[in-house]
Amino acid sequence: MTRLPTLFLSHGSPMLAIDDSPARRFLQNLGKQLPRPRAILVASAHWETMGGPAVGLTAQPQTIHDFGGFPAALYALQYPAPGAPEVAARAAELLKQAGWTVGGSETRGLDHGAWVPLRLMYPEADIPVAQVSVVRGVGPDGHEKLGRALAGLREEGVLVIGSGSLTHNLYEFRGQGIDAPVPAWVSEFGDWMLAALSDGRREALLDYRKQAPHAARNHPTEEHLLPLFVALGAAGENAQAQRLHSSHEYGVLAMDVYAFS
Ligand code: ZN
Repeated sequence: MTRLPTLFLSHGSPMLAIDDSPARRFLQNLGKQLPRPRAILVASAHWETMGGPAVGLTAQPQTIHDFGGFPAALYALQYPAPGAPEVAARAAELLKQAGWTVGGSETRGLDHGAWVPLRLMYPEADIPVAQVSVVRGVGPDGHEKLGRALAGLREEGVLVIGSGSLTHNLYEFRGQGIDAPVPAWVSEFGDWMLAALSDGRREALLDYRKQAPHAARNHPTEEHLLPLFVALGAAGENAQAQRLHSSHEYGVLAMDVYAFS
């Protein structure tokens, strides 16, 4: 089986599902560039659990419209991909072996961190999808370890995706136009991440909150960056990061996409 990369996707605003943009067009082409996975496992910023990660074991996950105040058209969108309960169970087993207490949900659907980018990448919705949560109160180091526990899935035809946002300050996002200018505090953070990821400076990355410029301003809370560390860990120890895409929306949302292989 072809060895897949792992991915970090910035899913931006839910309007990515509707509004044309460079990031949207990039994701629409990305699925075709990759070897076809047997299944997809998404670590989404929009599923946070306490005490340990959880996996979604649903056979036919619903499309969750977990956002408020957007146009009706967005709530009408569906992503009817089948679930991947056996992949979720395998992920849970690997996480338990690595020492995690793992929860499972038989009913959870796909949140917009999963379905918005997947609907662009794989519009046929014919690849089974499962989700794994991020863990509240656990930082980059813990999420890199969580990803590392899942590294074997790459050999099993499973595409591991971390879905978050390279920058994510929703207070400063409100009221911006989609093509608003990019403030320096956003671009400097993105540049630092690019350099640290490209150079494989894993220790610096795990300490990004102290070392990267404007880290706390770009991530007032960390949940949208934690999926990057899951993708990094799941690619294995000597993985090389490659930035596949970079653009900005609403000035403050960096839409970067990284592959790790
Ligand atoms: Zn989000």
